Amino acid sequence: MKDRITKKLTIIIMITIGILIIISSIFVVLSKSQNIYNYTKENKNYSIKIRYEKTKVKDIDTKIKEIVAKEKQEFIKETKNVNKNSKTQYHLIIKGEAKEYNSIEFTHIIVNKFTGGNHYKRKDISYIYNKNSQNFTNVSELLKNKNSFKELSLISKHLINKYAEDHKIKLVEKDLINGTNPKKENYQNIYLSKKGLTIIFVPYQVSSRFDGEIKVTIPWNKLNDILKEEYKNKKIIKATITRKKRDISKYKNQKVIAFTFDDGPNTATTKILLDNLDKYDAKVTFFVLGSRVNDNKKILKRAYKEGNDIASHTYSHKDLTYLKDKELEKEIDRTNTRIKQIIGVEPIYLRPPYGSVNEHVKNQTIMHTICWNIDSLDWKTKNRKKIKKEIVKNARDGGVVLVHDIYKESVYGALLAMKDLKKKGYSFVTITEMSELKNVTLDYDKTYYGF
Ligand code: ZN
Repeated sequence: MKDRITKKLTIIIMITIGILIIISSIFVVLSKSQNIYNYTKENKNYSIKIRYEKTKVKDIDTKIKEIVAKEKQEFIKETKNVNKNSKTQYHLIIKGEAKEYNSIEFTHIIVNKFTGGNHYKRKDISYIYNKNSQNFTNVSELLKNKNSFKELSLISKHLINKYAEDHKIKLVEKDLINGTNPKKENYQNIYLSKKGLTIIFVPYQVSSRFDGEIKVTIPWNKLNDILKEEYKNKKIIKATITRKKRDISKYKNQKVIAFTFDDGPNTATTKILLDNLDKYDAKVTFFVLGSRVNDNKKILKRAYKEGNDIASHTYSHKDLTYLKDKELEKEIDRTNTRIKQIIGVEPIYLRPPYGSVNEHVKNQTIMHTICWNIDSLDWKTKNRKKIKKEIVKNARDGGVVLVHDIYKESVYGALLAMKDLKKKGYSFVTITEMSELKNVTLDYDKTYYGF
């Protein structure tokens, strides 16, 4: 008896679940189709295909409706010119996409039209709408400041260069710069997503030849200095380490030198350096090896906290120009991840081992390539006096000095040089401070030897 009831109950439950699944899937399909506008029409003279996503924001949907109606009308007018006996058929294809992120609604419409001639004519129309302020807006509103726009432009240019290399497209520098200049018009077709900020460069925007559209995405970890706080990805953990930031205005129009220390960190010798930097008001840059940071965590954190720059010298000091892409990626990414685990932020400067770098290597990263123009030759002489002499002899304003903080003699040599150079009116700054003082917004496609 009990068994039969259980059986009946099970059947009833199963049927109910089944019905629920059917109803909900119908609902999903219906709501999806409600969000999409679809229209097709075809006759002997022409065909029209329109398909776009609606946004549920009345302001935007009205605008799109108007645009689409206008395009359709114009197109039909043009088809009147088609010779009735002609076999050519005109085409109008309108596609629209809508994306929402952090209360910003991005819509992008592509109008492709064929009305005779050799090819389709393409037109891109985009709207950016802020749901909070209920206003149409543009890329500038998303950006932190004027410098952010410069930065956005430089990263875009860099990513297009990578795209061009991957797709074997030959770009003309002048066209590329024109199409990526920090102007609103160049950044109309954009959207934010889980991946980052995507920018669509329309055909002919960055190349006077037809290379189709070029779509690039700036990852979230590179958007920190670009986007306003409210538009950032909340999941990207912010640095929790508070760090000294000094006022460098006093160094403006003064002779400055950037001391850079490679191949560390090495607790014993790096400590000697850090203990003495204050004597010369010096901040320096450490190009560390990813393979060494975990064993020297404390000193790395201290160096960062005290206002020095932490940068990457790759994971295991291989010549990057000989590596396959996968190995190259590992050399860079592993280092960046490890450094981030310790100081909370990823490094932005890369010093390729042996100063060996080429365009391909640069295209594989979104980092600034920093080499040097003053070699202390410390690895050769291993003598503090000789090291000091070599640095002082070659010192110049805007210079970048290469030393290795894994050797005691090198550290002392650098400190002796600072003592001498300070008397000669030099100040000692990090790469970040140097580029700020020299008014250089670093280009991702260049290699910097000095400033
Ligand atoms: Zn090295």
